[in-house]
Amino acid sequence: MIKYNLICFEEHEFEAWFSNSSDYETQRGKLLISCPYCSSTRIDKAIMAPNISSSRKKEAIASKDIQDLSNFNSVVRKLRQHIKDKFEYVGDKFPEEARAIHYGEKEERKIYGEASLSDAKDLHNEGITLTAIPKAVSPKNKKKLN
Ligand SMILES: [Zn+2]
Repeated sequence: MIKYNLICFEEHEFEAWFSNSSDYETQRGKLLISCPYCSSTRIDKAIMAPNISSSRKKEAIASKDIQDLSNFNSVVRKLRQHIKDKFEYVGDKFPEEARAIHYGEKEERKIYGEASLSDAKDLHNEGITLTAIPKAVSPKNKKKLN
């Protein structure tokens, strides 16, 4: 017996069993195979995804995740370093400093600091654009994120 993943003209995918590959060809030729969803007899073999849904595949995906995460972390670290080098740190005075600059009360300059979510929303509503800088995610703490 042989199992084929089949696909109809309407792109419905289904599985069917045949005694051998020529049995499939014969039945297909005689229009004996029909889609269980739409009864179409215009059937073809679906392209099969590599069947490696084993723990190895899961491991591969997990290590890809960790790779992505460490790439992300290194980008975030560079970004944070750049900000530290080029921007002035104003700490929790960030909302009032951002406002002062926005309304022209203070000289325009690049600043960074902390703002609560509600402060950030208020600033946004006043037309002050700010960017939240993500903290680097430690792969060691990754499990806690789940
Ligand atoms: Zn169909």
